[in-house]
Amino acid sequence: MIDTELIDKIVTVEGVITNLAKVSQPYIVITLMKFECPNCGSILSIYQESKKIKSPNRCSCGWKGDFKEVSKELREQQDFIMSTNDGEMKVYLTTKELIEKFQKRNSSRLTVKGQLKDEFIKKENKGILVIYAEEITE
Ligand SMILES: [Zn+2]
Repeated sequence: MIDTELIDKIVTVEGVITNLAKVSQPYIVITLMKFECPNCGSILSIYQESKKIKSPNRCSCGWKGDFKEVSKELREQQDFIMSTNDGEMKVYLTTKELIEKFQKRNSSRLTVKGQLKDEFIKKENKGILVIYAEEITE
């Protein structure tokens, strides 16, 4: 049984993909962005954790304001919803290897091992348990 006490822990969950409409296409996410301070020229690296881009608040030279974006690191991601004994869960595949393995699957029944998180889905106005997969097996 999965419950909220397991959030941030590694769990193994069996599930079935019942609705292919809830399987995304692979897409690109930003993991790290670098910004340049217009005052002193320092480069500041900011890890990106959500869809909303985070920029630096201030620089060590005291500058507060706009920073110039200089580069970003990207990776592929894919997600899907599976039905489990504990209800619907969303699974994120965050490496190319996992995405390839998922695309070659022969079955709609999967076992997913990974870190449990919870997420609020604004569109549907509900919370859902999500897994950042480290391993998927059929
Ligand atoms: Zn600065």
